[in-house]
Amino acid sequence: MEKKPFQAESKRLLEMMINSIYSHREIFLRELISNASDAIDKIYYRALADTTLNFDKDDYFIKVSVDKENRILTISDTGIGMTQKELEENLGVIAQSGSLNFKTANEAKDGYDIIGQFGVGFYSAFMVADTVTVVTRALAGDGAYRWESSGVDGYTIEPAQKDAVGTDIILKIKQNTEDDNYDDYLDEYRLRSIIKKYSDFIRYPIKMDVTRSKAKEGSDSEFEEYKEEETINSMVPIWRKNKNELTDEDYENFYMEKHYGFDKPLSHIHISVDGAVRYNAILYIPERTPFDYYTKEYEKGLELYSNGVLIMNKCADLLPDYYSFVKGMVDSEDLSLNISREILQQDRQLQLIAKNIKSKITSQLQRLLKDDREKYETFYKAFGMQLKYGVYSDFGANKDVLQDLLMFYSSKEKKLVTLDEYVSRMPEDQKYIYYAAGESYDRIDKLPQTELVSEKGYEILYFIEDVDEFAIRVLMSYKEKEFKSVSSADLGIEPDEAKDESDMDATENQALFEEMKKILGDKVKDVRVSKRLKNHPVCLAADGEISVEMEKVLQAMPNSQNIKAEKVLEINTHHDVFASLRSAFQSDKEKLSLYTNLLYNQALLIEGLPISDPVDFTNDICKIMV
Ligand code: ADP
Repeated sequence: MEKKPFQAESKRLLEMMINSIYSHREIFLRELISNASDAIDKIYYRALADTTLNFDKDDYFIKVSVDKENRILTISDTGIGMTQKELEENLGVIAQSGSLNFKTANEAKDGYDIIGQFGVGFYSAFMVADTVTVVTRALAGDGAYRWESSGVDGYTIEPAQKDAVGTDIILKIKQNTEDDNYDDYLDEYRLRSIIKKYSDFIRYPIKMDVTRSKAKEGSDSEFEEYKEEETINSMVPIWRKNKNELTDEDYENFYMEKHYGFDKPLSHIHISVDGAVRYNAILYIPERTPFDYYTKEYEKGLELYSNGVLIMNKCADLLPDYYSFVKGMVDSEDLSLNISREILQQDRQLQLIAKNIKSKITSQLQRLLKDDREKYETFYKAFGMQLKYGVYSDFGANKDVLQDLLMFYSSKEKKLVTLDEYVSRMPEDQKYIYYAAGESYDRIDKLPQTELVSEKGYEILYFIEDVDEFAIRVLMSYKEKEFKSVSSADLGIEPDEAKDESDMDATENQALFEEMKKILGDKVKDVRVSKRLKNHPVCLAADGEISVEMEKVLQAMPNSQNIKAEKVLEINTHHDVFASLRSAFQSDKEKLSLYTNLLYNQALLIEGLPISDPVDFTNDICKIMV
């Protein structure tokens, strides 16, 4: 029989599984049972839509059987099965989502990371088995087929004998080695506890023949063993259980089982509401940003159950966009099973649930921020940007909810601080909340524009994400303190003597500045004396609504309209360079033009803006050298 090769990525994953030294190999059973349960679900859904199909609950179950002698473990289900084509498509290649994630996991050497963080599905069987055989008959019905593989060199598919619709996954369990005991996966007791641990709430019975003993007939002291089929799982979904009965590990297992994420959840919320609307929910805040989170491929949403039955995989209406990172499920008795997506959106019950969930997430985040700062910062690093988008979008409609959850890096504390922390330690004479925008904390540290504000001893918030300044513009103020960019025209800092002096300079030097403005043309709106510079000779400031940082962001957007900041070149009249400018103004106009262009280009570079002609710029530098 012809052996077919695995698709490249599948092969690589398979290699990892086969050579895995992963300590939680037992999860293969969770993966296979979860597939079996999905397969039964598929029949169930079909029956919902197709009245000719009768779904009798008693006919649907999963069975785990052991043949210790021959080292065979079989996981059977009465689910939808696979056609020949599906066998090929499903088990010859990794599921699409898996293959994308796999790119980053490729670097993991021993496979630990990939298995720990990723759902690996069917292939995990190769962690414990030398040979995996799948015998399946699809409901759609083109007979039964056997898929078999003993590892990376490929798989075979051939017609097989199987009367009932469903799938048997047959594992030839590996021999023990010096380091590894595979007998565990043939041990009734161990298997039971693995099923209990990971798959207790599966909606269909997971049956197993268990060994019991009873007194021999006519004897009190002699016992004999017999086998009896038992349902191992309680089938009570975790969300219906009492919170007190559940451990953090149970919630983590549920998260893994459901493949909500490939990380561990950072925090969970278990909600049971029995009021105007009744529902249970388990929500998770993931620890890490999903690889596609900030792309348009990412779909937000919670699983939606109606009285224990899944009716939608990703119900987007349950989550506001700014909490799109939340994973989990909602189960409500008050929702109809056959509710369509269109009707769902207008469903009052659902709207109530969504509102309720939103406030629960907000309080959970507030609690984390207050009681577990470290965790909150982990969360914020992963998803803080989304909260800022939330402030910015919908014309600021949600800013009241979100503003207290924001954090920015502080020039003084050298770490993330909240707006409340900032405002509560503002000196009395400080009028504004100051911020500086730039590419990185280091770059902002060196921004000339921060000099005066820093010298006054005021704290500055550093904005390094594109959305920051836009979000702040929408917020406008926090606790009645307005936000102020260190580059804005008026810093609101009371004049001291030094400033008076520079005002004098301003009038005195008016002619010089006018000349410089003429040289620069419409590249700048104005040339002015700077009130904020201490050690640097020049900087750029912006008049009007658009800051220089915002200009950068807007220019980088696709279809950007040519929106520009109104740039003002500010000159430090206390700097030695200024004396050179003045003397050039008096005696050498060509030199003045050279200096002006140089200073302007320097200011652009400091801002991280491109200079329009780097060759001119370097030629200019050479001119002053010779
Ligand atoms: P995932 O479950 O994440 O999609 P798997 O590698 O576990 O990835 O399985 C791949 C596909 O194979 C499944 O999506 C499903 O279509 C099919 N499959 C696996 N096990 C079964 C089963 N017991 N019955 C029917 N189909 C199955």
